Amino acid sequence: NKTVNILGFNFLNSTFNDFLTNIKKRINNRENTFVVTANPEIVVHALNDSSYKKKIQQSDYLVADGIGIIMGGNILGYDMSERITGYDVLVDLLDWGNKNNKSAYFLGAKPEVIADLKKVIAQKYPHLEAVGFHDGYFTDEQAIADDINEKKPDMVFVALGFPKQENFIINHRNTSDGLWIGLGGSFDVLSG
Ligand code: UDP
Repeated sequence: NKTVNILGFNFLNSTFNDFLTNIKKRINNRENTFVVTANPEIVVHALNDSSYKKKIQQSDYLVADGIGIIMGGNILGYDMSERITGYDVLVDLLDWGNKNNKSAYFLGAKPEVIADLKKVIAQKYPHLEAVGFHDGYFTDEQAIADDINEKKPDMVFVALGFPKQENFIINHRNTSDGLWIGLGGSFDVLSG
C-alpha cells in the first residue's frame, strides 16, 4: 500500500475507488483486515495517548477521514488523493454486499438507532445477509464477541466512536476473519 507519513502515522494515499477495490479483494479472500478512518480528532487523541497510538498503528489501513489530514499531507509535500470517510465506505460496502450476498454485523449507536438501522438495511439492502445488530451501550462485551465469533461475518461494522471502537476491534478481531472497521457516528446518519 502506498502510504505517507504524517506526524508519525502511515496514512494510506490512495483514491476511494482503489481503496475499496483492495478491501473487497481482502473480504473475498477472508483476510483479517482492520481499518481506521481517522479524522484530526483521532490523530490529536493518539498523539496524547501512546497506547491508543499503538492500537491505530496496528491497523491494516489508516485512511484520512478529514480534509485537515489531506491538507496536512499536502503541506508536508505529499500529493494526497482524496478524503475517505467512514460513512462513504459503509454505504459502498453495503451496496456491494447486497449485490454479492455478503454477510455483515452491525455494532454501535443507541438502541433506537440500531432498531431503525435494522429496518433500513432490510429495505434498502435485502440481499445483504445482516447476521447481527447490537447497540453500543452494552455491559457484556464478551457476549457480543462470542456472537460475532459464531456468525463469522464478512464485515463487522463498529460504530462506537473513538477510542471505544478501535479498542473493541483490537480486542476481538481475531475471533473472525473478515473486515473490521470503526465508523464513528455513521449509523446515526444512515438510520435517519
Ligand atoms: N456510541 C456508542 N457507545 C458508546 C458511545 C458512543 O455506541 O459507549 C455511539 C454513539 O451513539 C454514536 C457514535 O458512537 O452513534 C459516536 O459518534 P460520534 O459522532 O460522537 O463519534 P466520532 O465519529 O466523532 O468518532
